[in-house]
Amino acid sequence: MRALVYHSPYQVAVEEVEDPRIEAPTDAVVRITSTAICGSDLHMYEGRTDAESGLVFGHENMGVVEEVGSGVTSRRRGDRVVMPFNVACGYCRNCRAGKTAFCLTVNPGFAGGAYGYVSMGPYPGGQAEYLRVPFADFNCVPLPEGDEHESDFALLADIFPTGYHATELAGVRPGETVAVYGAGPVGLMAAYSSLIKGASRVFVVDRVEDRLRLAEQIGATPIDFTAGDPAERIKDALSDEGVDRGIDAVGYQATVATGEEQPAVVLNQLIRTVRPTGSVGAVGLYLPSDPGAPTDSAAQGLLQVNIGKFFERGLSMGTGQADAKAYAHQLRDLIVAGRATPSFVVSQRLPLADAPDAYAKFDNREPGYSKVLLQPGA
Ligand code: NAD
Ligand code: ZN
Repeated sequence: MRALVYHSPYQVAVEEVEDPRIEAPTDAVVRITSTAICGSDLHMYEGRTDAESGLVFGHENMGVVEEVGSGVTSRRRGDRVVMPFNVACGYCRNCRAGKTAFCLTVNPGFAGGAYGYVSMGPYPGGQAEYLRVPFADFNCVPLPEGDEHESDFALLADIFPTGYHATELAGVRPGETVAVYGAGPVGLMAAYSSLIKGASRVFVVDRVEDRLRLAEQIGATPIDFTAGDPAERIKDALSDEGVDRGIDAVGYQATVATGEEQPAVVLNQLIRTVRPTGSVGAVGLYLPSDPGAPTDSAAQGLLQVNIGKFFERGLSMGTGQADAKAYAHQLRDLIVAGRATPSFVVSQRLPLADAPDAYAKFDNREPGYSKVLLQPGA
């Protein structure tokens, strides 16, 4: 089959690789109809991880079941399904508690598994014609038949549940005010989820014009951080001591984007943006900002977060990979009911062959490249 294969920093190619096959009775093989490029793929693309040549990328996958193992009971050939990026068993202590991003079975030694992501298990990605899905009864979320809502459902694999997870980590409740740093796909989904939950006012901070326009389009207030201190401007707009809830959907990208030496710039801004006793949800990843730096370098583990101010303001914070599996069914039902249309972030639907060019453009944050869906069957 054809797949998008990583070779070295900034070098990916679409080439022939071995077809996936059923390896365990609980596996399925899914023919991919849509698979998205994610900001997290760029960490590997830019050479910030230990990803090795030959890795097939792609953790945001949906498609049609092609084949099931003898132990799969609830899915069958022909079912339309989406695979939230967590590869999870469904029965370990963490999965039973809904913490599916921290499955203890699939990737021993590093809680949590994902398709096509270095360090998250031996699972090739789905930017390919076919994907092997372990524990298919648990990992294949069923979708209505047909081809309606393809772009909305594709986002159930990661960014819609991840944005929603950020609002859960932050504890967003109806009527509250929220500040989201980062208007990438994840930040936009966090803003959208906050509005679905009934937030009274949502601010979205970025500097990329077309991303800020998307935030405005869904009813959030855009804040261009190049036009002045975002924390002060948000407080002025509210005439208050800060928002109730804050979300970090940037991570180490802040260093790359702004040339700041301090990778925790967004966390420190959030400490000033959120009112005393408010809370923060942090879903942005903290990796070394220098490609090639060891993964335990200061940029990843030893952020200079102003914990004194954090304590003084009585704040709390939640972090971590999103339990995408835990929210996918409910968010699917919101889409089916016409109550959510997350595909407003999708900017392109392209054949798999165009993936290398799309990676380069998405990596450069080129205008008009907010979220790319690859369609291997097209
Ligand atoms: P992205 O790179 O497309 O978006 C990041 C945005 O932040 C960009 O638009 C950039 O202009 C903006 N930005 C940079 N510096 C800023 C600053 N100082 N203030 C405000 N905005 C700033 O990435 P994405 O796909 O939206 O993902 C966002 C983050 O979430 C990434 O770190 C990604 O790896 C992570 N992520 C986490 C999970 C999870 O499960 N926790 C899942 C998916 C993605
Ligand atoms: Zn993703």
